[in-house]
Amino acid sequence: MKPKQLKIIQFELGPMDNFAYIIQCEETNDCMIVDPAWDSEKYTRTIEKYNLNLSGILVTHGHHDHTNALEPILNYKNCPVYCSTGQIKFDYPSSSTIIQVNATDTIKLGNQTINVLSTPGHSSDHIAYYSRPHLISGDALFIDGCGQCDLPSSNINAMYNTLFNVLLRLPESTIIYPGHNYSTKKTDTLKNQKTTNRFLTSKNEKEFIRKRNGF
Ligand SMILES: [Zn+2]
Repeated sequence: MKPKQLKIIQFELGPMDNFAYIIQCEETNDCMIVDPAWDSEKYTRTIEKYNLNLSGILVTHGHHDHTNALEPILNYKNCPVYCSTGQIKFDYPSSSTIIQVNATDTIKLGNQTINVLSTPGHSSDHIAYYSRPHLISGDALFIDGCGQCDLPSSNINAMYNTLFNVLLRLPESTIIYPGHNYSTKKTDTLKNQKTTNRFLTSKNEKEFIRKRNGF
């Protein structure tokens, strides 16, 4: 029998329209929180409501608006925090058990497998999490947008490569779960985004850079 897909619960919270997620293996009830920020009780209440076992925390990148609830979550349950090698330099709570992951690594969640994708551009160490058909894209790809590329560790050329050579190579049926709610839709398929996302319709890198820089 084909294993069920991951179940994804989306949370919208904080003053910056962040999305965070609880992802769950429905066969074992193990779950992980992706990018825990702003309101730790929102996550813990959901975990308790559905009687889930929190087995880890996934971080797409170390920016404050994606990580500022790490400490209370780890106080609630001290589980491993998965992040990319470069993210180590951010200030994680001292109680963290950090597991460094990079492209081609996989993470087990119950009976499900999550693939780590290297997606730099918005920040140099950004990673995304993919478990077919779901892509948790953090601040790499938004619905009808993409992450800022003018921050201290941004690289606009790396963002082009991430979008066009990593994320656009995923199946068109991929469902995108972004790191912020900057659109009228909260999720969308890659197939739709190929036509409605103005960054993804760029004909080449030069055009993408011009659009991303606001010209
Ligand atoms: Zn960010």
